[in-house]
Amino acid sequence: MNILTFDIEEWFIEKEFSGNRGEKYAEYQAYLDKILNLLEQTSTKATFFCVGKMATLFPDVVKNIAANGHEIGCHSNVHTWLNKMTEKEALEDTRIAVDSLEQLIGKKMLSYRAPAFSIGEDNKWTFEVLAECGIERDASIFPATRDFGGFSSFGHKEPVMITYNGTQIKEFPICTTGLLGKQVAFSGGGYFRFFPLWFVENEMKKAPYSMCYFHIGDLLPETSGVMSKEGYEEYFKEKGTLLNRYKRYFKSNFGKKNAWNKLEKLIKTQQFLSLEQANATIDWSRCPQKLL
Ligand SMILES: [Zn+2]
Repeated sequence: MNILTFDIEEWFIEKEFSGNRGEKYAEYQAYLDKILNLLEQTSTKATFFCVGKMATLFPDVVKNIAANGHEIGCHSNVHTWLNKMTEKEALEDTRIAVDSLEQLIGKKMLSYRAPAFSIGEDNKWTFEVLAECGIERDASIFPATRDFGGFSSFGHKEPVMITYNGTQIKEFPICTTGLLGKQVAFSGGGYFRFFPLWFVENEMKKAPYSMCYFHIGDLLPETSGVMSKEGYEEYFKEKGTLLNRYKRYFKSNFGKKNAWNKLEKLIKTQQFLSLEQANATIDWSRCPQKLL
């Protein structure tokens, strides 16, 4: 089973942090159109995790995705990482996001992805927050170490029923593979840009299931510049040293030239489901249970 997901926040980030440039909105829209056309051509449905602010600031973008028959999921309200929020802040952020998206598209939000996979050992309470906001399925766990967070002790790379403090959530973690003694992801983001397509497809075949994940920013051919110190610190909430800013620049831009072509080939050759479709095919009573 392969699941296809996109995280949608670029318009909001451009408006809030990057200068509100008309040409960037046009570029994002062009890539979203390319994605929607490709999905239509291949009769594929995907889940688009949108930040709540997209619903209030760019409602037509979200409505257009929903009108194409894709699942809209929640990707927080303002793309602040959950591990940088208190439980109270996370509850407020999720509530606002879920309400805005539900009001816009007239459907319940059941699927969630945290910005930058920011649910880990230290903020497992997030699952209570999500359940309180009506979320039933989560796709935020990155079961390996990563720059910001990750949940390396999670121990599952297939759908699993999580129980935390009496609350249950269906978890769809990112899948990882062993490489040079480390667990690494391969089916989305910078990892997808980095690895050759044959490697990604081979790993997808071997894995019990695959969760593919992309931001539109992963697919744009043009590189964005190095962030300003102020912009970096406001967005990443850590010191905007030259080293930190260049590291982020490299990670955000490596392998971009080929990314769209790779994605197009992947979607044309593999079968994908949205999270909503995948959920309907899974017998959850037979899935692994994970008590957190
Ligand atoms: Zn995101």
